Amino acid sequence: MVFAAKGSGDLKKEVLDRGLCTACGMCVGMCPYIKTVREKVVVIHPCGLKEGNCYKVCPRTGIDALELDRSVFGEERRDQALGVYEGIYFARAADPAVSRAGQYGGVVTALAAFAVEQGVVGGAVLSGGTVLEPRPVLAKTAQEVISCAGSKYTAVPTLAALNGGAGDSPGSIGVVGRPCQVAAVRKGQVLARRNPETRIPAAGAGLVIGLFCFWSLGPDFYSYLEEKAGGENIVRVDIPVEGLRVTTSGGERVWPVDEIRPYIREACSTCIDPTSEWADLSVGSTEYDPAWNTLVVRSDPGRRLVNSAVEKGVVELKPYPEERLPILRRAVLNKKMRVLHDPDRPRPGYLEAAGGYAGAVKTQWEVLQP
Ligand SMILES: Cc1cc2nc3c(=O)[nH]c(=O)nc-3n(C[C@H](O)[C@H](O)[C@H](O)COP(=O)(O)OP(=O)(O)OC[C@H]3O[C@@H](n4cnc5c(N)ncnc54)[C@H](O)[C@@H]3O)c2cc1C
Ligand code: SF4
Ligand code: SF4
Repeated sequence: MVFAAKGSGDLKKEVLDRGLCTACGMCVGMCPYIKTVREKVVVIHPCGLKEGNCYKVCPRTGIDALELDRSVFGEERRDQALGVYEGIYFARAADPAVSRAGQYGGVVTALAAFAVEQGVVGGAVLSGGTVLEPRPVLAKTAQEVISCAGSKYTAVPTLAALNGGAGDSPGSIGVVGRPCQVAAVRKGQVLARRNPETRIPAAGAGLVIGLFCFWSLGPDFYSYLEEKAGGENIVRVDIPVEGLRVTTSGGERVWPVDEIRPYIREACSTCIDPTSEWADLSVGSTEYDPAWNTLVVRSDPGRRLVNSAVEKGVVELKPYPEERLPILRRAVLNKKMRVLHDPDRPRPGYLEAAGGYAGAVKTQWEVLQP
């Protein structure tokens, strides 16, 4: 991976001004002049430096997918849909209070709380707050992790919470994030290894739990949601295939998904990783049974945590139904193909370093076509 010697002016020109910023939050707070305003990342003052880590850590200034594979897993992917993984399951939190609090089976909350409780990590960077006012949280106790349960469908810039020094020492911090955030953390770790004298937030991330994510919504979604809730207290938001499902104190209503498409963030249309391919563990819905999650075990640390959590009765696993695997792989490859091979769109520049990646995706996508 090439870490170009560029600064915040270049970040603004190449990423922010071109609608490519995913609001991962990684650059925010690395410099006093980069802030978020309603989930929009802005450079509030030109610092004038020609070279800065803000540019280097950004997942949209360049990613070498295969180098990240080698860096995290010690091998390159053979599966272009799901990346490197060693096991895939249906899973759920064993404690009904946790699964009730969670978006689906509560696996992310159960595993993150378990990791904090067991001292695997000293804390976890999460998205807390409410669906109308989400915010980055550094949770230090299992109870704080549980209070962050539930999906907020906007791009909460949670990695900003790493900037207080929480993730500096090895293994010190857990991160739960969208795939773009996982990529930012892993890119930061590569940069930190090459420059041990430089302080990079996330350098010491000891556990990375990634979510599945095909798109997130911009902040205008909040006004839309408030209007739909009609002043009632919003208890839960979900976006299954049927549409936007909002549960309020007054009951549950569903709106067609097409109503929220205009709020999809521009950056998501150039994203090629819907399953957090560089996480230790990736977790999504099952698109089938809302009481369970899909859990992808990718790395040795991820495997150790899951085994221990199963042994101690924290999460339950069952085999991933074989007939559903092609459905998941097709959905992921379709998204990658839309980004990489739609003749009407420029191929995302941030992937240019990954030689052969786009071709390999196409080959595996073709195999899955009826
Ligand atoms: C924007 C977005 C889009 C998603 N799209 C899909 C999809 O298309 N298909 C699919 O299968 N799954 C998708 N998911 C993942 C899904 O909604 C659940 O988060 C996942 O299945 C884990 O479920 P759980 O019951 O274990 O979650 P929980 O136990 O409730 O834990 C959820 C965790 O996610 C974190 N979180 C919540 N919102 C955000 C956010 N905006 N950014 C970063 N972290 C956050 C919280 O800190 C919490 O720790 C999406 C999630 C998000 C945030
Ligand atoms: S994608 Fe992340 S690192 Fe890049 S500009 Fe946006 S918030 Fe900063
Ligand atoms: S679709 Fe991609 S860029 Fe958009 S929030 Fe999800 S992981 Fe980030």
